[in-house]
Amino acid sequence: MNIGSKLSEHWTDEQLIEHLYGVGPEDGHLQVCGECQARLSAAQSVRLRLETDLASDGEPAGYDFLMAQRRRIYARLSEPAKSWTGVSVRRWAPVFAMLVALAGGLIIYDHGFRQERLDRRVSDAQLAREVSCMASDSEPQSTAPLHALFEE
Ligand SMILES: [Zn+2]
Repeated sequence: MNIGSKLSEHWTDEQLIEHLYGVGPEDGHLQVCGECQARLSAAQSVRLRLETDLASDGEPAGYDFLMAQRRRIYARLSEPAKSWTGVSVRRWAPVFAMLVALAGGLIIYDHGFRQERLDRRVSDAQLAREVSCMASDSEPQSTAPLHALFEE
């Protein structure tokens, strides 16, 4: 004769889960009902599996079910952002590579430009010398007719 089992119904799944949360009914039915105890142990194994899944993801096992649930929710919430970041990184990787190549090219170009300017400065000086040389060389020739004209 058990009054408790007569007074209280079998716990619902929700009530069993609430018990796992520590907020389940306190009617003592669980202590007298083998069926509900079996269901609770099943729920506990689900909880254990959840924690094991989370533990395999690198998270510590053995913490509160609510915390596990919350972490799962957080993990799920962060998943789209993660995948978006992954997509974004994949999408922008060529652009980034291009920018790096461009920056490298600019550095090389700048270096080449400076080298070119240096070469041009040298060549300008050489050209100036050559031009002045040519001028001094060509002056007698070009003025020769004039001189000849005056000498005449
Ligand atoms: Zn029961």
